[in-house]
Amino acid sequence: MKKDNLWKKTKSHTKTVWAGETDLFPYGSTQPPLINSVAFQYKNLEEWVAVAEGKKSGHIYGRNTNPTVNIFEKKMAILEGAERGIAFSSGMAAISNVFFALLKPGDRIVIGKDTYGGTSKLLLDFLPKFKIDVVFCDTTDLKSFENEISKKCQILYLETPTNPTLKIQDIAKLSRSAKKCGALVVVDNTLATPINQNPLKIGADIVLHSATKFLCGHSDALGGVVCTKNDLANRIYHFREINGACLDPYPAFLINRGIKTLGVRVDRHNNNALELARWLQNHKKIENVFYPGIKSHEGFITASKQMRGYGGVLSFSIKDTDKIASFLSSLQFSHNAAHLGSVDTIVGPPKTTSHVENSPDERKSLGIPENLIRCSVGIEHIDDIKRDFDKALIKT
Ligand code: PLP
Repeated sequence: MKKDNLWKKTKSHTKTVWAGETDLFPYGSTQPPLINSVAFQYKNLEEWVAVAEGKKSGHIYGRNTNPTVNIFEKKMAILEGAERGIAFSSGMAAISNVFFALLKPGDRIVIGKDTYGGTSKLLLDFLPKFKIDVVFCDTTDLKSFENEISKKCQILYLETPTNPTLKIQDIAKLSRSAKKCGALVVVDNTLATPINQNPLKIGADIVLHSATKFLCGHSDALGGVVCTKNDLANRIYHFREINGACLDPYPAFLINRGIKTLGVRVDRHNNNALELARWLQNHKKIENVFYPGIKSHEGFITASKQMRGYGGVLSFSIKDTDKIASFLSSLQFSHNAAHLGSVDTIVGPPKTTSHVENSPDERKSLGIPENLIRCSVGIEHIDDIKRDFDKALIKT
């Protein structure tokens, strides 16, 4: 059996395979089991009470804990360098629970304008009903963030890279400003993944993911996770126990299996996206390419400082806006879908994907052009992706 301090020296690619899986599994199974049981029985009442009171480890009821879900939580805590992980039924459940568990009326959040559409909707339509003041800053305007943070806030919320325009926020710099006023820094690390970026190691207090995306990697399970230190985790976990936004064991099982290959998948996503971005930049039918790994991107220097790879998502605009529909339908090796982070390439315009919940005016104010196409570059051979894109672009 391996000890927890083993992880300090261990590389991410080994953690994805082994983290959370070093206990012996029932029947000597080498793979994490799917424990599809809602309740756990105790013949011995004393033991049951000890588990219920937290004096002994064990499971009682699926809304609180489950062994398969626990493996996912441990894996993610180790991958992000956190004391604890808490699993959720989706990425949005993870985000909502962080806000509702930690904030109270009168509190203030500072956030960038172009976060994921669901997040911005939560902040625009729901949190203000609970008298929580939400301040939107220009995502890359450091001065405006520092100014708003200095007026006092409880949470500084960052998403970097952003979805879908891949803007980059300086986690270390902004965390230093937030610390001065006692604010907690929350980072949505969905697009980067823990392979490319570990926000907790550079100043953030809480890191969260939509596990539906790269962590799962195969588009067949919804999930979310929050990783942080124990005191914050206890508050968030307690709220989740009561509001019931828990992750089911079956998606947890699929996500656990997905994470095993996260390292190799992300390496491939990084390489494919970088090559596709560079190639699109020189294509005569393309107006603009947004990818933090290309030197012309305004976040290139910060991304190079805080990320180990630039991720698998890019976006671009086609010169002839009328031809977006025909371009999308001409692609042979891409799904036209509202999703990202899968082994297969996925394309779609943000107005029908990440920002479908927003009105055209909201999208405009969030800095998302209507002719933008988001592309989550898969793990196919890059030559096939480029050939497929070229054919579809020439047709336009
Ligand atoms: N955060 C980001 C960056 C996302 O892209 C998404 C979904 O696309 C979410 C959060 C929400 O995740 P979920 O769909 O699992 O609720």
